[in-house]
Amino acid sequence: MLSIDAVVIGSGINGMLTALEFSKVFPDLEVVIFEKEKYSGEHSTSRNSGVLHAGIYYPYNSLKREMCIKGNKIWDDLATEKDIKINRCGKYVVACGDEELPILSKFYKRAEENGVEEIRWVEGEELDNLKELVDVKKSFFSSKTGSIDLSDTIKKFENELYNKNIPLMKDSEVLNIKVEDGQFIVETKNEVLKTKILINSAGLYSVKIRRMLGLFDLEDYWVKGFYLKYSKKMKCTSLIYPVPLKNLKGLGVHTSFDSDGTVRFGPNAFDTNQIYYGHEDQDFETMYQAICRVFKCVQKDFLSFDYSGIRPKIKLNGELYTDFWVKGPKEHGISGYYEMCGIESPGFTASPAIAKLVIEKILNEN
Ligand SMILES: Cc1cc2nc3c(=O)[nH]c(=O)nc-3n(C[C@H](O)[C@H](O)[C@H](O)COP(=O)(O)OP(=O)(O)OC[C@H]3O[C@@H](n4cnc5c(N)ncnc54)[C@H](O)[C@@H]3O)c2cc1C
Repeated sequence: MLSIDAVVIGSGINGMLTALEFSKVFPDLEVVIFEKEKYSGEHSTSRNSGVLHAGIYYPYNSLKREMCIKGNKIWDDLATEKDIKINRCGKYVVACGDEELPILSKFYKRAEENGVEEIRWVEGEELDNLKELVDVKKSFFSSKTGSIDLSDTIKKFENELYNKNIPLMKDSEVLNIKVEDGQFIVETKNEVLKTKILINSAGLYSVKIRRMLGLFDLEDYWVKGFYLKYSKKMKCTSLIYPVPLKNLKGLGVHTSFDSDGTVRFGPNAFDTNQIYYGHEDQDFETMYQAICRVFKCVQKDFLSFDYSGIRPKIKLNGELYTDFWVKGPKEHGISGYYEMCGIESPGFTASPAIAKLVIEKILNEN
């Protein structure tokens, strides 16, 4: 049986960056990625808003805050080194009704406490301009928020894997894993191999993978959302986000930009128990209502379905677990096994920092 030093499951952004970081830190060890789909990034990595978040929303002691702020900075270096297209367009967070004002202030304060750089209140003419697009009462602006070209980024890292001789085995679903003599026997659709280090970055399927290893304390909680694209020009070059209201399963329907600058609105949020990205006719009307709650003058005729995404949320022992779950043997007891679960937003922003965290965990074990 073929034996390899490390196996990464999944070639979303987290799997690709973790494999690259692994080969940088352990240049003498061999790592391979298995990807179940025919293309990299088919799931969450290409079905998100493409926003590089600044770290405004997350509790101070959370991994989400730490990884998001670190990741946001690393993306600047990656943009220079790898010629990745990032538009540091910034974003307005807007309160539309009086009842939203205390929530806006709470998030401004949290952003300051979180160490988010370059946030400021919006005033005067700038606020008046914003009022043409949203019924805004008050707003703050975050310059460190940006927009990244998702498909360009995926291509750049695939090339990087190729240049570093890291095999990326597509159409190779991992079907079963057994532990034998302290090593993992990984059975894929096409082959069986042995490895000492196993990294689970399977996104929406990461809970299924850990079950193969006998870990049952997490369960999936998937939340789907649609994006509608707007073919009319909008007079705003920055992103616009409502304040997230209580019990929302996402940040609220906001704007984001396509690589050519086209505006899209989304995502809304509703529970699902299947990985299905299609839509029904009534989904359009629900989305239109959600857009009109925040944005003025959006003309229905210029809206059309773009795509949908599914947030890989998780529950721990039946309760919603709201932070990223990045664990190694010290936490779950399986030597050589590292896992990333519940990597929902801001998981794209955080991915370069998460990759470093996983490799630190490997270094601390060996
Ligand atoms: C609607 C939505 C909006 C979002 N907006 C943002 C945003 O604006 N900014 C931000 O920072 N983050 C955002 N996120 C979060 C971000 O998209 C994710 O955190 C990130 O893409 C997760 O990447 P990943 O590599 O962990 O998972 P994925 O991209 O899902 O990759 C996992 C890979 O594993 C593969 N796989 C699964 N099972 C197997 C198996 N058995 N064998 C082999 N391969 C397997 C899958 O095919 C997949 O390619 C959003 C997410 C969603 C859903």
